[in-house]
Amino acid sequence: MSKLFSPIDTPISELLKHAERPLLSYEFFPPKTDKSMASLRDTVEELRDTDPDFVTVTYGAGGSTRKLTFEIAALLRRFRYQPIMPHLTCVGSSQEELVDIADYIHAEGFRNIMTLRGDPPKGENSFVTAQGGLACARDLVDLLKRRHPDFCLGVAGYPEPHPESRGDQEDIDYLKAKQDAGADFITTQLFFENQYYYRFVEKCDKAGIHIPIIPGIMPALSLGQIRRITSMCGADLPLPLLGKLESAGDNAEAAMNTGIMWCTEQLIDLLEHGVPGIHLYILNQVRPALAYQLARTFIDMTHKLKTV
Ligand SMILES: Cc1cc2nc3c(=O)[nH]c(=O)nc-3n(C[C@H](O)[C@H](O)[C@H](O)COP(=O)(O)OP(=O)(O)OC[C@H]3O[C@@H](n4cnc5c(N)ncnc54)[C@H](O)[C@@H]3O)c2cc1C
Repeated sequence: MSKLFSPIDTPISELLKHAERPLLSYEFFPPKTDKSMASLRDTVEELRDTDPDFVTVTYGAGGSTRKLTFEIAALLRRFRYQPIMPHLTCVGSSQEELVDIADYIHAEGFRNIMTLRGDPPKGENSFVTAQGGLACARDLVDLLKRRHPDFCLGVAGYPEPHPESRGDQEDIDYLKAKQDAGADFITTQLFFENQYYYRFVEKCDKAGIHIPIIPGIMPALSLGQIRRITSMCGADLPLPLLGKLESAGDNAEAAMNTGIMWCTEQLIDLLEHGVPGIHLYILNQVRPALAYQLARTFIDMTHKLKTV
């Protein structure tokens, strides 16, 4: 283990400032069954040696799911991952409740929060502001920064417009408002074509958004999974990737390898473009992290060959 463990997490903004190479982060989600909880424990243990710079845990709408976010954060702490960034959303909470949760997070020594409006709970089609609650991530950033100025806050960015987007420019203006409210960095929604990310970064730069923009990458692990996810978040599923996944048919192993190889190529290209970090939506599995190791090895070997 290379890092010294401290009861108070380092702000990720500090890591971003001083990093000599792009940061690596993994996103975990609270599992719903005992079986998937057991498998998450194995993943957490197995990935420990890959030494990510930080890890995050998603936040669900219901009360029990919320509690689970902090249980998973505690599990990650037991395995000495650090910093750990819980996600927090506006869904179903009044401002008083959000303040209580923020105080709890702060008292537990966490100093980083992925700050989101959140998706509507299962079975509901649109986001509804809770009674006495907040309507968007910008207002949550504002509330959290006023309550605990030493929080480092990540926010979501959308290289392909958010399904509720009111237009390209309004989207970017709104993201700028999240920065101006105090957001410290942006993690993007998943995408399968890096051009979306590069264009997005350019637009942000023109609009005066200068906080780091970390690309969020999810490997396609099966056709069904990736169709479901892209239909929810609106990301484009490129035809060549779709074709390869379809050709894999019922061969789950072949489909997974296809997704991992696509992801590895995306990562190589992003790393070579000097991104500030890579956030992997690992889906609580080990293999997505291997894509990063593959990409890193490829880049290191190529550089070595160039210097021989
Ligand atoms: C990195 C990452 C992590 C995530 N983690 C979780 C999680 O843990 N739990 C969960 O439930 N969901 C999570 N999500 C999904 C996220 O909650 C959804 O995408 C949600 O629909 C929007 O949340 P947001 O924070 O981006 O919302 P906001 O930033 O408030 O807004 C989203 C979009 O709505 C539009 N919009 C909203 N308000 C305005 C305004 N005033 N003016 C103009 N346009 C506006 C814009 O198009 C904007 O991009 C995550 C997404 C990402 C990218």
